[in-house]
Amino acid sequence: MKGESALQVAQVIVDVPTRQTNSPFSYSIPDHLADQIQPGMRVQVPFGHRKITGFIVGITDSSSFDGKLKPIADLIDLYPVINPELLDLAQWLADQTYSFKISCLQTMLPGGMRTKSKKKLIAKNQQICAKYPEIFHGEPEIEYDRQQFDNQTLAEILKLQKMGDIRVEYNLTNHARPIMLKAYSGNLDQQEIQAALKTVRKNAIGQIKLLKTLSQHPNDTLLLTKWESMGVTAGTLKTAEKKGWVSATLKRHVRNPFLREVAPTKPFELQPDQQKAVSSIEKAVSQKKDQVFLLEGVTGSGKTEVYLQSIAHALAMGRTALMLVPEITLTPQIVGRIRSRFGDQVAMLHSAMSSGERYDEWQRINQGKAKVVVGVRSAVFAPLTNIGLIIMDEEHDSSYKQADNPRYQTRDVAKWRAAYNHCPVVLGSATPSLESRARAMKGVYTLLSLPHRINQHALPHVSIIDMKTEMAKHHSALSTKLADAIQVRLDKHEQVILLLNRRGYSAFLMCRDCGYVPRCPNCDISLTMHKDTHTLNCHYCGHKEPVPTVCPKCHSKRIRFYGMGSQQLEEQVKNMFPTARVLRMDVDTTRKKGSHEAIIDKFGAHKADILLGTQMIAKGLDFPEVTLVGVLNADSALQFPDFRSSERTFELLTQVSGRSGRADKTGEVIIQTFNPDHYAIQLAKTQDYEKFYATEMRVRHDGKYPPYYYTVKLTGNSPSENQTASEMFGIMNFLKKNLSPNAIILGPTPKTITRINNHYYYQIIIKYRKEPHLKATLDDILVQSQKKQRQGLQIAIDNEPLDFM
Ligand code: ADP
Ligand code: ZN
Ligand code: ZN
Repeated sequence: MKGESALQVAQVIVDVPTRQTNSPFSYSIPDHLADQIQPGMRVQVPFGHRKITGFIVGITDSSSFDGKLKPIADLIDLYPVINPELLDLAQWLADQTYSFKISCLQTMLPGGMRTKSKKKLIAKNQQICAKYPEIFHGEPEIEYDRQQFDNQTLAEILKLQKMGDIRVEYNLTNHARPIMLKAYSGNLDQQEIQAALKTVRKNAIGQIKLLKTLSQHPNDTLLLTKWESMGVTAGTLKTAEKKGWVSATLKRHVRNPFLREVAPTKPFELQPDQQKAVSSIEKAVSQKKDQVFLLEGVTGSGKTEVYLQSIAHALAMGRTALMLVPEITLTPQIVGRIRSRFGDQVAMLHSAMSSGERYDEWQRINQGKAKVVVGVRSAVFAPLTNIGLIIMDEEHDSSYKQADNPRYQTRDVAKWRAAYNHCPVVLGSATPSLESRARAMKGVYTLLSLPHRINQHALPHVSIIDMKTEMAKHHSALSTKLADAIQVRLDKHEQVILLLNRRGYSAFLMCRDCGYVPRCPNCDISLTMHKDTHTLNCHYCGHKEPVPTVCPKCHSKRIRFYGMGSQQLEEQVKNMFPTARVLRMDVDTTRKKGSHEAIIDKFGAHKADILLGTQMIAKGLDFPEVTLVGVLNADSALQFPDFRSSERTFELLTQVSGRSGRADKTGEVIIQTFNPDHYAIQLAKTQDYEKFYATEMRVRHDGKYPPYYYTVKLTGNSPSENQTASEMFGIMNFLKKNLSPNAIILGPTPKTITRINNHYYYQIIIKYRKEPHLKATLDDILVQSQKKQRQGLQIAIDNEPLDFM
């Protein structure tokens, strides 16, 4: 028996996203779990009439709760899955992003470990199942997704649950789990093997084979598949096990996300600018300073080499390193370069990996087996300990901001972890975000620059084609100049990249007689033609419908496609250059696992002449044979009514230009645009970041945009436009009442695409420089939003949104 004073209480954040459950609930710890339980483990706990999952965030000696505590029902984990650092981080993240703590904790785990998604509803018996077809549809067990039921049915389920006619089960087995494989090892020494060989019959071929194999692998534990590959069957092994010749064990199989082996490489001798950068970073690593560096350098200036040598230094100091890259630049090329230096110490976290692979990589990190983690946005939560360096490549990239709750900016999380671990952060980019550059100018960040391309390669020659005059001459998507330049490259057996930032076949379909444009029935947006599936698709809600052959409105047959997409470009290019080998890379051709790599490999091996695609092809790729890059619609980003559209355009053009002429051949870039005089396009031509920064900062200053102002975006949506609008007006008034007169409150206004999936979206933008009441006011709105949610209104708070759209 334990004494009174030893009574411990577990503090649990339960998996119920509400304001009340944002603070931990107290549970008593049953004796049989007392010596296992630790903060950071997941548990199952009783909650109301249900059993739900939660995270232990602390263990205390007493509880502020007066009543009798309920005991924890079960432990899900055998070891903590959230370490002490990440527990602290979850609290900060919840505050920072106005999210629930449970969403923050869930976000930190790889998808396969989230326990929430699989709940089962199980009928007590066949009678119950038959009696409630609206719940069970004749199946005795169903997956329990609350959204599928209306309120009345949900109430009924709750009633049945109380009566014990239905139970809810948490099915954890469907999630990523370790794979255990059967392995066999020998029990005989060489003499015993020889002796055994004499005892077996001559025709017992299987056993003879087994004994001979055993004598070659006397001390190995080999997987069943390995035995089989050597000609020993499972049956023979079973017989041998009975005879005591071999013993069976279970061996943990670690799924390996790396598609191929890489040969080790040595660090380069650094150029003077690289050396300066590495020295500064190394000094901060050694001195354990949480300094933030902005490493500025065009593509090919040697940034990656700086990262690699700085990581090597952190490892040499006995610490770990985290390297973050944007979603689409995490290519086999970059991962290969990192593994060629650091080998098996590298773990990768990427959304294109299977959930099993991610689970295994995550385990390797959590167990301290991986010292270098390379990954996308969510890898910023990798359970590394003792971090000595954090790198964020292409720090300006928009994939670093999470679009759903918690809406965090990876850069901020990286800086938080750097402060916690006493280590520096390196933000790298050819086109830093204005926020980061402005901080570097103020001295908040330390600016390091690599002004030259390695080997002094000249930047590519860039020309701009005015498509207004071009379109008057012909109707091809390729200007005469671009078409001619492609032919020249094909003749010289060099490679070409073509960027068209629009997937699908065409932007929209229109009747030439009555002007009818097919639109999504659920959203305020026209449908996109997809020729491979012969459907019109909505890129917002996924709606699909057949392509009409006659106009549904006036029955005319003159239906035409407008606005070319990547599928149609592929068709046109193949027609114009019938002998060229063409590859297309966009969301539609890279859905299957491995297809992205396959395209890159094929193009890299020069098994294709032209690679065309959406912005996926703009970044991170390094093909020495590419000497021409064509940008078909440089205006695609400029068209958005947003303060960041110039920045995005400049970034994209600079990046894609960096793809041309990386080896010993000088590159050429041809940019087609309807806005040839726009400063973002003109300055991308000369790759003049300095001037772009100065020009854009003036625009931001005059428009009161970031980085001069901090911003918050509040979005509301509901199935009724009236409700959305009136609720948002209410919020606007609340803000006006509570914030200081200096705060700028814009809206509510309908969003650019007001209706998506039959929900109406309105937004309010808050701009401020200093606003002491902001946090409390937004926290209030968060509390109110819970009541509103029951009336069908969803409110989202986005702290420092990427755009105002
Ligand atoms: P970035 O990351 O800025 O695009 P990289 O680090 O990829 O630049 O460097 C561009 C090319 O130059 C790569 O092929 C790289 O291997 C090579 N390189 C980088 N640093 C050196 C160096 N100090 N000496 C020789 N080659 C280098
Ligand atoms: Zn018509
Ligand atoms: Zn739609």
